[in-house]
This record gives sequence, structure tokens and C-alpha cells, in this order.
Amino acid sequence: MGRIVMKFGGTSMAGSERIRRVANIVRRQQAAGHEVAVVVSAMAGETDRLVGFCREANPLYDPAEYDVVVASGEQVTSGLLALTLQALGCKARSWLGWQLPIHTDDAHAKARIGEIDSNALLASMAAGEIAVIPGFQGVTDDNRITTLGRGGSDTSAVAVAAAIGADRCDIYTDVDGVYTTDPRIVAKARKLKYVTYEEMLELASVGSKVLQTRSVSLAMKEGVRVQVLSSFIDDDAAPADAIPGTMIVSDEELEGIDMERQLITGIAADKNEAKVILTRVPDRPGAVATIFGPLAAANINVDMIIQNVGRDKGETDVTFTVPGADLLRAQTLLEAQKEAIGFNRIITDGKVAKISVVGVGMKSHAGVAATMFRALADRGINIQAISTSEIKVSVLIDEDETELAVRVLHTAYDMDAKDEAA
Ligand code: ADP
Ligand code: ASP
Ligand code: MG
Repeated sequence: MGRIVMKFGGTSMAGSERIRRVANIVRRQQAAGHEVAVVVSAMAGETDRLVGFCREANPLYDPAEYDVVVASGEQVTSGLLALTLQALGCKARSWLGWQLPIHTDDAHAKARIGEIDSNALLASMAAGEIAVIPGFQGVTDDNRITTLGRGGSDTSAVAVAAAIGADRCDIYTDVDGVYTTDPRIVAKARKLKYVTYEEMLELASVGSKVLQTRSVSLAMKEGVRVQVLSSFIDDDAAPADAIPGTMIVSDEELEGIDMERQLITGIAADKNEAKVILTRVPDRPGAVATIFGPLAAANINVDMIIQNVGRDKGETDVTFTVPGADLLRAQTLLEAQKEAIGFNRIITDGKVAKISVVGVGMKSHAGVAATMFRALADRGINIQAISTSEIKVSVLIDEDETELAVRVLHTAYDMDAKDEAA
């Protein structure tokens, strides 16, 4: 008998029939003898629809009111799941973010969870009641509703799991685990039985949207055991306790299980980056600081950076990437600083994609980047920028070549599933 947090994503909650399927999975987990808390997303597409209404109401919307609107999608599904569980004869109730409460800071639309008061929740679960919690939402100290950023229900689930000391946090979604790459792009992607926190964190942060990045860093910090698995299963499917999905584990744990680790664990693609080139920047100390200082002050995350070889006249080109959503703001800021920075022209390109290969095996093996560059060159794919970390190599390419590049690299690192037809 244990304590389990189960999280269901938007596709799993889209409509009465799917919610009934979810309720059955939840009921089975409780029947296996566990105390159960469920965290739910809004129905697929609902959050986008609500964001659209905010934009229509006021393009420069107040993030606090935006949160009031977009948090409602999860309120609906949590109530519906509680009702559906009750219809199956289970004891269940919903716990909205402010009722638990899930305390957050006041960074609306991207709030961070502080504390969760879980005493009442634990008492209710111990009494056999299934707790249904809307993901994505919290409350500030002065009682305003907040949301945690897109994909934030994963983080809600991990935070609840940490707060109640759950034995496992099962993230149910529309694929049956974490794959070597997005199985919707590469049919030969392989499902991973295990992936380390460090690798999953890197994969999530470079664009694998299967888990929100912050949910992984929180799980790593709090030691929460996370499994990714499918909610689209038959009644006779293996129970979650048999670990049919992908377990996120620590490096030490994996070393004990899998001695023959692959060099590369996964490949991710991110089309949400945009490229900025500043031409003829003065090649002198402090020039780069005048570019990136204002961007940092405006909370714009710069990712890849290249400073080209200086030209003869003491000038250089500086290329970097920012999130696509921040491109316009970055451009406006830089134009305003044109004189202080001293550049000649600003060139932007939103049609780029970042392709990353990730694996802890890289720490001890050379040649990973070389293989990547050769494989892309052989297919005529041009690399516009490069960045690396201890366990990752990323390249920036033309967005139109995303799918091709991911497939080519998947084959180049010998990751294709062997038993499937081509
Ligand atoms: P949910 O609505 O359940 O939160 P998401 O759409 O956020 O689901 O995440 C699941 C999706 O993540 C999958 O449908 C898949 O297309 C995508 N994905 C991207 N990279 C991977 C990967 N490496 N393994 C599995 N799924 C991935
Ligand atoms: N509904 C929110 C979103 O679409 C949160 C989530 O589903 O994780 O971003
Ligand atoms: Mg998600």
C-alpha cells in the first residue's frame, strides 16, 4: 500500500468518454490499495482557446487577469473527474489551487510554487477519498490566482507528490513513455525504460515537451520518483505499479540497472527559437555586455551565442538566439540601444529550429559533435550556430529541415528501433 499521485494531460481529459477512461484508471489504482491524488490538465485545446480570448479582450493583457481566465480550464476538468469518479461509486472531491492551498509567488503566468499545505488533503486521502487537483494553478499570498506557465500541470503533480511524500508520481499522457525522440516525428523512435533526471532535464529544456522542464528539476531536487506512461490503455493492460512506462531515475540508480548505456539518450527539436544577428559590432571589451545586459534586464533568455571572427576594421558580427515569443521585444530593445552598442544592422530570422542530442555518455566519449556535423553535412543541412554543454550538443538549422535532421541524426547515432519495419 502506497501513496500515488497520478497526473492526466489535456488529450487524456478531452471529453466525457476520455474522462471516464481516466476515472477507471484512477479507480483501479485505488483498488490496488493505494491512497490516490489526481492532478488534471484542461481539455486539449482549451488553454489555447482561453489565451485567445484574453488577447482579443486586450492585447496588452494584465497577467493577473490572464491567470484568472486560463486557470478555469483545469477547474472544469477537476470537477468533471470528481463527478465521474462519484458516478463509479468512488469517494472523490476536487481541491482547487486556493483550497489546498498551493502557494506561489506573484510572477503571474509563470509563477513558482512555494509551499503546499497538505494536511487537509492527507486527512481526506487517508479517509479513502480520492483527491482531484486542477494542475497549472496556485494562489499568491494576497489571494490572487496564478498559473505556472504552459505545460505547468506536470510541475503541479510533482510538487504535490513532494508535499505529500508520495511513493511515485505517474504522469499519464498520450504516448506510453519517453522515447529516444518525439515518436510523432520519427516512427523508429525507441521507448526508453529509464532516463536519468539530468538527461530528462536537458531533453525537456531543449524542446521535448513530454515533461515541463520545471517539473523535472523539482523532481530531481525533491527526489520524487516519476513515471511517464499512457492513459490510452485497455482494462487488461499492465498496472502502473508494474512500471510499463519510462522511469526517471538517478544516475547512480541507472548505473546499477544498465551497464551498457547508449552514448546518446535522446534527440529533441525546438522550433520556438529565433535568430538575431547584429552586424559590425565594435570589437572591443564591453561591447557584448552592452548587447546582453539590456536583454537580461528585460528577462529575455539568450541561448546560443556566436561572435564571429573580427573583421579587419575592429568590427565583428554577433549572432544569438532568443525565444521566438520574445523576438519583437528583443529587436525593439536593441534598436533603442543602437547607438550605445554601435552596431550597423540587425537581422532577424524566426524560421529556425534548434536540434539537440543529449546523453550522459558524452561526458566520457569524444566524437559526438563530429558525428552530428558529418551526418547533417551529408544531407546538405547547413548549421547556423552551435552550442554545447557537458551532456548536450545543439545546432541551429533552417526550420524546414527539422524533421529531416532529427531522422538523419537518429539513424546516425544508431538509435533506430531494430524490430520495426522501416
Ligand atoms: P500532455 O497533454 O499529456 O501534457 P504533451 O503534449 O504535453 O502531453 O506531451 C506529450 C507529447 O510529447 C507527445 O504526444 C509527443 O508528441 C511529445 N514528445 C516530444 N518528445 C518526446 C519524447 N522524447 N518522448 C515522448 N514524447 C515526446
Ligand atoms: N493546460 C495548461 C497548458 O495547456 C497546463 C497543462 O496542461 O500542463 O499549458
Ligand atoms: Mg504537457
